[in-house]
Amino acid sequence: MNDPAPLPAIDIDPDRLWSTLMASAEIGATPKGGLRRLTLTDEDRAMRDLFAAWARESAYELRVDRLGNMFVRRPGADPTAPPVLVGSHLDTQAKGGRFDGVLGVLSGLEILRALDDHGVTTERSIEVVNWTNEEGARFQPPMMCSLAFAGGESVEWALQRTDKAGVRFGEALEGIGYQGDTEVGGRQLDSYLELHIEQGPTLDQADVDVGIVTSGYAMRGMRIQVLGETAHVGPTPMHHRRNALVGAAYAAVAVNEIGWRYAPEDGKASAARIDVWPNLPGLLSDEAQLYIDFRHPDPQRLEHMADEVEAAVAESARKSRTEITVAERWGFGGLRFDEDLARLLFDRAGAMDLPVLEMASQAGHDAYHLSRVCPTIMIFTPCRGGITHNEREDVELSRTVPGVRLLLHAMLERAGYRSP
Ligand SMILES: [Zn+2]
Repeated sequence: MNDPAPLPAIDIDPDRLWSTLMASAEIGATPKGGLRRLTLTDEDRAMRDLFAAWARESAYELRVDRLGNMFVRRPGADPTAPPVLVGSHLDTQAKGGRFDGVLGVLSGLEILRALDDHGVTTERSIEVVNWTNEEGARFQPPMMCSLAFAGGESVEWALQRTDKAGVRFGEALEGIGYQGDTEVGGRQLDSYLELHIEQGPTLDQADVDVGIVTSGYAMRGMRIQVLGETAHVGPTPMHHRRNALVGAAYAAVAVNEIGWRYAPEDGKASAARIDVWPNLPGLLSDEAQLYIDFRHPDPQRLEHMADEVEAAVAESARKSRTEITVAERWGFGGLRFDEDLARLLFDRAGAMDLPVLEMASQAGHDAYHLSRVCPTIMIFTPCRGGITHNEREDVELSRTVPGVRLLLHAMLERAGYRSP
């Protein structure tokens, strides 16, 4: 193997990165040290305003597309060359942490600032993106705006999604003033690089600071609709009951058991949300909805899981005397990221003397959708104990910086670095 090319003497400012992260941690802060910054809420608007202000301060260009995806651009010497895109998301779960997604966006911003510090010009422009509604905590499905960007669904489809209160995505987006006029997607990108906390314990336990993510687990999600009949809980004989809540509950337990059966091969199945109507004491329910998802490192084994889930759902309907249908399906993953970008990351890590692990992503990320339209790769950094989607989610700066540095050097290479 050839010796890796030497690294340009350019570095990020870890303290500035940390203070940027901590400024973000104040917007939507929860009492237990986490964040509640649901997409298209006042907190999301405040964070977007701050991100936009940071962009203006450094005289970067800001474009917002029709789904509120924000692109902060540091122009390159050749403005017509397809840009290098980095980023992630600034929205969080209802009880989320301070780093999930946020770290990817603000690392990108820190890298642009570091290039300014060192007077660096790149051939290609570099853009830092904040994808709208990555989490899917308010509007389903997750990652829907990067999906639309990649042409997987239409803009109109995204605008018509509704939250639990019946508010349309389009209305909420207009409400916070972030419906931009840039078309969604449809332009050429050189590459997309996403840095994200691992959201699992592997790096933390292995005492390695950087994961190079070369593939993603295959995942399927479903919204299951259960129809029964309302009746009085007292006089209604057991064999007459058609309780939708019970149908959904049977399905939830069955799905969880499928997760256990596939656990030895690292499969997982989850019942994550249940909605029941009328959800009153004294009354059997006539409608329930259950959100389930399952994932597996091997796409073929995922098909087996899917068959078992279908069978379990049918059995739950039979036992509860309800009608159960799959109202909606989605899926992602089961993919390999770009090999050239992976090689570039391993090469740069080698030049940095940085120990890395090759990993597969188990959670969904915007990078999955982007990989349909341009070469894509992800970098993972450790989060303490693997705790995530939790107010206690935490990182150590010293174990985060190596991943950000690797991102910097990969971007420089990809964007065409010119020494000042
Ligand atoms: Zn995330």
